[in-house]
Order: sequence, then structure tokens, then C-alpha cells
Amino acid sequence: MRYSIGIDLGGTNIAVGIVDEQFQLVDTLSVPTQANRPWKQVVADMARCVHTLLANNALDPSSCIGLGAGVPGVIYSSAGTVLFSNNLRWEHVPLGHALAVATGFPVRLSNDANCAALGEVVAGAAKGRKNVVLLTLGTGVGGGVIIDGKIYEGTQGAGAELGHCTLIMDGLPCTCGRKGCIEVYASATALVRQAGEAVASHPDSILAGKALNGRSIFDAMHRGDPTATHVVEQYKHYLDETAVNMVNIFRPEVLLIGGGISGEGQPLVDRLNAYVRKNCYAAPYAFVTTVKIAALGNKAGIVGAAALCLA
Ligand SMILES: [Zn+2]
Repeated sequence: MRYSIGIDLGGTNIAVGIVDEQFQLVDTLSVPTQANRPWKQVVADMARCVHTLLANNALDPSSCIGLGAGVPGVIYSSAGTVLFSNNLRWEHVPLGHALAVATGFPVRLSNDANCAALGEVVAGAAKGRKNVVLLTLGTGVGGGVIIDGKIYEGTQGAGAELGHCTLIMDGLPCTCGRKGCIEVYASATALVRQAGEAVASHPDSILAGKALNGRSIFDAMHRGDPTATHVVEQYKHYLDETAVNMVNIFRPEVLLIGGGISGEGQPLVDRLNAYVRKNCYAAPYAFVTTVKIAALGNKAGIVGAAALCLA
């Protein structure tokens, strides 16, 4: 059996996993990233985790064919360089070379959302599909694009920023510096903001005084709270239009929804499928994408990163 190592490098945690050639996760290890320290210290911890995990599983390094890492930001994968990472506060970090020196393995890099999409293609909800788009609805809106079975990352890794396409022209300000991005309306953070504003003007809502998060807002909607129902309905309509945009651009076989909001599950998917079927371009005549919930959760990034070496 051959193995590959996958690393999901986040702003909060470094998650490392060993993945076998059937894309099954053998074991994982996670340590805090402590992103405010020099990047070389982060790399040293990544390498330490790799060696610890191999030792814990009594695996000889020669049984591993390589190491893949998914990193948030603009990743120039063929150069092995992190050009820019907002979460890590990195600019022009030669991560590929540094990791190869520190671990002794050949290293492949990609953006974290791209790795998550690849993970779902090799072992998750889009297994065996060639054209797949993943939207992760969490703190922001991440996008991963797989075309003909391969990650599409745009020129020098700067493309596929799906969350920063405009949904509302001249809309609310986004962290990227522009206005009206999908992320400002369709992320979990956006849902919490929308609910907070609605509760402030409707203090009779059962959400008043409660901690607001995706779960509590959807729960209040399921219990019939009019304020929560209105907020969730509006939020879902932002998702409807986002999904149709993705289908009209890429027409993937599957559009996957991941991240915290995907916990809403089948009702969310049923609605999105109905909306896409009715509204995407040439729906009565052309192939219509299926919307599905991503299956691997926070393991998709590790599996996909490892798959950079296995696929
Ligand atoms: Zn933006």
C-alpha cells in the first residue's frame, strides 16, 4: 500500500492526515497554527506533525509518495509559492520548497477550497465526477473548481474566487475592498449579521437575547418564528441566485454546498435544485446541474491535499 500526506493549513489549525491510495484517511493530527508567528516556525510545526504521524502509525517514509498542502489564499502552485494569504498574513512565502526541505517529501500546493473540492471528487459527494464546483458557506464563501477531473485555479493561482463575484452591484462592503460580493450575502457570517439586524428591529423574536449562529437561526425558523423565517427566506434567495450564477458559468455535473450552513441539509438542497432547474440558462433543453451537500466536512481539505500527490 502506498500513502500520501495531506495538510489542511488554516488560520486556526494545522490539520495533517495520512491518506491511502484508495483515498481513505488513515490517521490525523492537529495543532494550533499560531498564525501571528514567523512562517518558518509554522513550517517547522507542519514537518513535526508529519514525522509524528508517520511514527504513530509505524509507517516508513519510503511508503509515502508525497505531501500535499491546502492553504487559504492565492497559491501559485507550480512555483510552490503562497503569493498572498489574508488568514495567515503571509506574502510571497516559498512554502513548497521549505516543506520539501523540512520533510524530505516532494510537495504539491493548492488553495484550501480547491483541495476540499478535489477531496469530494476522489472520496466524497462528487466521487467519480469530472466537472464539479464546491461552495463553502462559512466565515466567508470559498470556491473550488474541478474541470475535467483537475483543479482549475486560474492564471498563477489567482482565479476561482467565487465568493468575490458581485451579487448586488454597489451593495454592502466586503473584506476584499469591493462591494456587494456573494460572500457579504451568502456566508454564515452574513446570515448572522442579517439575523442580528432583523432581531434589533423585531425584539419580540424568539432569537432576541440568544447567541446567533447558523444553527440557532435555522432552529428558530423551524419553530415558526416570523423574524427568523423572513431572514432565512431572504438568505436562501441569495443562495438561489448564487447557485444559478455558478451553474450558468460552469454547468458542472454537481454543485456542492459545504461549510457550516450545509448542516441544513436536504431541505436546502431540494429548494436549490428546484430553483436551478427553473432558472438556469436553457434549462428545458440542456443538461441541468444537480446541487448536493458536500460529504467529507472538514476532512475534505486533508483528503484533497493528499490527492494532489495520488491523483
Ligand atoms: Zn469580496
